[in-house]
Amino acid sequence: MKAVDDYQDVRRAMVAEQLAAQGISCPRVLAAMRDVPRHLFVPRALITQAYDDTALGIDCGQTISQPYIVARMTEALELPAGEPLVLEVGTGSGYQAAVLAALGARVVTVEWIPALAERARAALEAAGLADRVLIVVGDGTAGVDDAGPYDGVLVTAGGAQIPRALLPRLRPGAALVLPLGEPGHQELVRLHHGAQGWVEESLGGCRFVPLRGPCGWEGE
Ligand code: SAH
Repeated sequence: MKAVDDYQDVRRAMVAEQLAAQGISCPRVLAAMRDVPRHLFVPRALITQAYDDTALGIDCGQTISQPYIVARMTEALELPAGEPLVLEVGTGSGYQAAVLAALGARVVTVEWIPALAERARAALEAAGLADRVLIVVGDGTAGVDDAGPYDGVLVTAGGAQIPRALLPRLRPGAALVLPLGEPGHQELVRLHHGAQGWVEESLGGCRFVPLRGPCGWEGE
């Protein structure tokens, strides 16, 4: 297997040709995407595809999100400088949490499937980012006791409803970014509390694995 640094050129190319070219412009997000070794977060058999701009299968029928979507969601949080605190629902491979950590955030990330939480922890350790990320096993849509308030919240699994329990955990002005809709037709939505109340913006179409629990699709 190649050393971590052997993938730097291919990561640079991914950032320039796939992310910047598709409109990601925040320098901090682009730098974090250049820094995080995505190949450590994909199954070994798929390592040659680690820097393609596609979602890939991980264990337990779940996926690691497409780099463009990770960058888009991270950018949409509009995190303050310094050391913002971010909640992620749906740890999956741990890659999104790693990108947030590389950007300087402290991350609380919740994963429903214990085996994935375990694997994500190992990948974050290999990437040298584990000290900035707390992984919790459970239903993230219920929030995490005593944690927050957050400077941003991401839900990285698709559901039918906004997990309302997370809204009071947002710091004033902070955004919740999540995929909403139906299994085959989801939209990335950004929600924040403006002067007149909650404001919902659409960031375009997307496709995520199902969110479990009461905010998920019926029968999932
Ligand atoms: N952010 C991930 C991709 C997430 S895939 C990455 O960067 O790789 C979606 C993940 O959400 C899956 O691992 C799934 O098990 C998890 N999930 C689904 N519903 C959940 C819930 N209610 N609480 C916590 N995790 C959930």
